[in-house]
Amino acid sequence: MDINKHYLELEESYLFSTIAKKINEFLKNNKTADIIRLGIGDVTLPLAPIVVEAIKNAADEMGRQETFKGYGPEQGYMFLREAIKKYYTRKNVFLDVEEIFISDGAKSDLGNILDIFSLNNTVLVPDPVYPVYVDTNIMAGRKIIYSNANETNGFLPLPEDKIKCDIIYICSPNNPTGAVYTKDGLKKWVDYAIKNDAVILFDAAYECFIKSEDLPNSIYEIEGAKKCAIEFCSLSKTAGFTGTRCGYTIVPKELVRQNSMLNKFWLRRQTTKFNGVPYIVQKAAEAVFSEEGQKQIKENIQYYSENAKIISDTMDKLGIWYTGGKHSPYIWLKCPNNMTSWEFFDFLLKNAEIAGTPGSGFGKNGEGYFRLTSFGNRERTVEAMKRFIKLF
Ligand code: PLP
Repeated sequence: MDINKHYLELEESYLFSTIAKKINEFLKNNKTADIIRLGIGDVTLPLAPIVVEAIKNAADEMGRQETFKGYGPEQGYMFLREAIKKYYTRKNVFLDVEEIFISDGAKSDLGNILDIFSLNNTVLVPDPVYPVYVDTNIMAGRKIIYSNANETNGFLPLPEDKIKCDIIYICSPNNPTGAVYTKDGLKKWVDYAIKNDAVILFDAAYECFIKSEDLPNSIYEIEGAKKCAIEFCSLSKTAGFTGTRCGYTIVPKELVRQNSMLNKFWLRRQTTKFNGVPYIVQKAAEAVFSEEGQKQIKENIQYYSENAKIISDTMDKLGIWYTGGKHSPYIWLKCPNNMTSWEFFDFLLKNAEIAGTPGSGFGKNGEGYFRLTSFGNRERTVEAMKRFIKLF
């Protein structure tokens, strides 16, 4: 018996445990402290009423002999795939339903997709970034190289001809930086991928926060992307499904490498290792894509977006450099007075009783930066920004 030793190469993630420890210590020494948590990466508003209704109706169906459902199609029910197909046409992206695979969220598929790629591939990951891309490849033993996201490129790195890689991760709008690629920026990546026979794994988990018609919600808005990109999306942030669990992955039929359609590989992988998302959850997701559902979820997105604006307006007022906040729930700011990420964490906690997330936890280029999120309560966000203004 030989273990997968690559697991020993994983770096322990102390980020959120250290944050919790520091907050607890602070509370122990400051019994009356009123800490505002702006580090939260989870949604806080409840599911839309139409979604709750769909869940109840589907539960009733499951309880009746005539409408009971057992195993469903591994790739998802046709009603939901059709609804997603229609959702994409709003941006003039035309998909075949067979290119749409329903998942229990983007995180699982972002990890699972690696099954269809050789271990010999070199992976290009932006730094800083959502840690799942790095850890899933370390577990498999793939070689990882990094593209530097920094203040100079607005945390939106572009391809460099001298760098050779096979799998490219792009997250836009980005977690943690909130930065969003323009169509021109994404086109450069698509051209690079086609030229180098690489495949882009495009994480669109935060696409619903994009408010400008000119910014791409999907990589397939870029010409040629169907030949080189797989897209991952999620209802987690779109519709508050972080605890309900539903997402989707698009593998275009035009994506062919070494005479094989990756769509066929992914279908085979899913039908072998996955037994589908619960019917009840898929009915809930279908409700999200209905006209009324879209109206209802937009109210929640609007709420978070207004929180983000309150935070970014404050940064503007104070002259603090940041990315995000406009088409994203994340505000990624440069720590004032050249503080390191953790120094700023301690400073903010001690002097304003605000807890955020140190940027250094997302990669070495995150050092000196700090992530605030807009998923909190309105009054608390306003109060936090008042404290910020007083402090700076
Ligand atoms: N991708 C990014 C960039 C995220 O930040 C997250 C969650 O925070 C996910 C994917 C995971 O989404 P899901 O809840 O659908 O697994």
